[in-house]
Amino acid sequence: MLKLTSLNKTFSKQSALTDITTEFPENQTTVLVGPSGAGKSTLLRSLNFLERPESGQYEFNEINIDLSKPIANKTILSVRRQTEMVFQEYNLFPHLTVLKNVMEGPVQVLKQNKNKARIEALELLKKVGLGDKADSYPNQLSGGQAQRVAIARSLAMHPDYILLDEPTSALDPELELEVLKVLLQIAKEKQSMIIVTHNLEFARQVADKVIFIEKGCILYDGEVEPFFNSENKRIKDFVSAMT
Ligand code: ATP
Ligand code: MG
Repeated sequence: MLKLTSLNKTFSKQSALTDITTEFPENQTTVLVGPSGAGKSTLLRSLNFLERPESGQYEFNEINIDLSKPIANKTILSVRRQTEMVFQEYNLFPHLTVLKNVMEGPVQVLKQNKNKARIEALELLKKVGLGDKADSYPNQLSGGQAQRVAIARSLAMHPDYILLDEPTSALDPELELEVLKVLLQIAKEKQSMIIVTHNLEFARQVADKVIFIEKGCILYDGEVEPFFNSENKRIKDFVSAMT
């Protein structure tokens, strides 16, 4: 379980996140939604310390961190191993084949046996529908294919959580669909995920839990259907503007 209590983050005295208290259940998909500039990316990035909040409590399995104090590098590394971030722009290694991209982390970081890593990487590529692209290079892939490689690569690390910040916002609609299908499948298999998305239709399908953020504050934190049927005017306006 990943849990935040009273987290605050400012950028040059401007508040980006205010008093964030929430949890991200294991084996579930939590979706973060909200208007542009609401603080979704900042919150997601704070979860693996790509951003450093000024205060709050951060609990993750046996780790318990007071965010107002310095954090040991080894704690940060250990959190990052368990929370794999999938970026909007894939960040694949251009000089490595698709297969090597997926194997790189398990071999270099987890010190996995190469053969074992290769077998698992091939399985994961199959899972994301790219069994035939193992020997291709990233520049030979469509955006949707590249993003699916990035997802396979994160799965290969067996993290507790996969964090995704608008994983399909760089893609055309038909390429987006193939990535969303893969994410729906992974969610069904109970991989814990935290996804920032503007696609509310997808959010509704994939989420076990919705967090709605506006101006750095959580306005809704709970089950999916009540969110979409909310009578709260701000939520209602947001949902109808986005669907
Ligand atoms: P979007 O949907 O457009 O991606 P978001 O909800 O992800 O928006 P954030 O990127 O988290 O929003 O930004 C939250 C607030 O923090 C915004 O006001 C933004 O301008 C500000 N902000 C984010 N990153 C920085 C930064 N590195 N320096 C200064 N301000 C920042
Ligand atoms: Mg963002």
